[in-house]
Amino acid sequence: MKLWIKLSIIIFSLGLVITLSGIIFIYRFSENFFKQSIIQEMKLKANGIEFILSTVNDLDYESLRKYSSISNVRTTLIKDDGKVIFESGFQENELVKMDNHLNRPEIQKAILYDSAIVERYSKTLNCNMLYFVKKIVLNINQNSKFVGASFIRVSIPKDIFQEKVVWLQSRIIYFSISLILFMIIITVIAAKKFTNPITHIVNVVEKIKNGNLHYRIDIQSKNEIGKLAESLNGMIEKLNHDIVRLEKLELIRKQFLGNVSHELKTPIFALQTALETLLNGAVDDKSVNRVFLEKALNNTQRLDRLLSDLIDISRIESGEMKMDFKTFYLNNFLLNIVDEFKEEALKSGVEIKFIPGDNEILVIGDTERLKQVIVNLLSNALKYTPEGGQIIVYTEIKDFKAYIFVKDTGCGIPPQHLDRIFERFYRVDEDRSRKVGGTGLGLAIVKHIVEAHGSNVKVESEVNKGSTFSFWLKIANS
Ligand code: ADP
Repeated sequence: MKLWIKLSIIIFSLGLVITLSGIIFIYRFSENFFKQSIIQEMKLKANGIEFILSTVNDLDYESLRKYSSISNVRTTLIKDDGKVIFESGFQENELVKMDNHLNRPEIQKAILYDSAIVERYSKTLNCNMLYFVKKIVLNINQNSKFVGASFIRVSIPKDIFQEKVVWLQSRIIYFSISLILFMIIITVIAAKKFTNPITHIVNVVEKIKNGNLHYRIDIQSKNEIGKLAESLNGMIEKLNHDIVRLEKLELIRKQFLGNVSHELKTPIFALQTALETLLNGAVDDKSVNRVFLEKALNNTQRLDRLLSDLIDISRIESGEMKMDFKTFYLNNFLLNIVDEFKEEALKSGVEIKFIPGDNEILVIGDTERLKQVIVNLLSNALKYTPEGGQIIVYTEIKDFKAYIFVKDTGCGIPPQHLDRIFERFYRVDEDRSRKVGGTGLGLAIVKHIVEAHGSNVKVESEVNKGSTFSFWLKIANS
């Protein structure tokens, strides 16, 4: 069952029970209330007649009859022996027809209790009547027509009174029906108003579940529902970001896998071709067998470099490679690495030199990983600097940071590539990179390691003039 229907039924049932109890109470007691108010009215009228009798001198029969008729009650005056001396329904001369009233139940009761209320059938009028009798002692002129009146009796036909009760009860029923109808409408409106936001939330969540992540819950209220909507919107937003990130990662993973297979295929294919050529007879041809063997060896070395770079990059990216920070003397550290490159540089006809800075400078970093950074930068400088060129490593201290520069006079990098050379497998000139034994991962590894030190790597380059790569390290003794 829908929530709004359930809610309507609960609220409506509650309202109905309360309203019906009230209505039944009023309905059941309306007759009594009515009776009481009519009796009260009759008492007032009796008092009014008593007042007139005792204050108006020479009151005649007709005047009293008129007064009774405008008061809308039947009035009877009875002596203490039961003789009727006034009856508003009769002319004075008709009084003789009236029998003695001493035995009337209301008179008997009034003798005992001074006043009485009796409901009974009137033989004189042939209908049910309600009687109120009051015992009186009149202090009036002895010549008055009403001397000796001991009881004032006022009465009304019960039908009149009953009609009024029925009228009131029917009004109560009409009112109840209208009230219940009104309650149904109000309950449904209230329940709908309460459940509409929930229905809206359910609809949006359903859409999200079906993959329509651009939907948002549009509820501005500040109550719990509003807060729920806000939290759900936040969740959807996060989900959206996570999905976009996952999709991006998935794309990167696919590209990476594609690149890796491509990178592996080239040396494996070259290795295979060299070995096949040897097997097909070249092994016995002394003029070429060495060439093919060297080619095979070169390609296995290239595979080795590629695999170790791949292992490094995946360890860095998965967070498996933990940095081991310590303080060390920067000059000494750089001097040793540059020394290791001296021989290779000499072979390539490139001059390599280190311009030492302040010997006392202590920096913070992981020496093993930072050595990899300098080695990669120097290898690149050597790879892309033609014979006769120069490579200089130098440092600068600025803003409590030690900047390290690796500058070469090589081929340089065209400006449109500068932003991308730190991406995995990105090369300016693929053939050239392969020829010089590049894996396309060197700068990506550099970037990762430098960033793990809280720093960043920069490059400035001019085609055919050279390139300068730089990054900074925190100084420990500043
Ligand atoms: P590779 O193994 O191809 O050198 P890297 O990631 O180390 O891969 O470098 C990416 C690309 O950046 C290289 O292919 C090359 O085009 C360019 N590059 C890097 N260092 C230099 C440099 N010192 N001079 C000129 N080009 C460079």
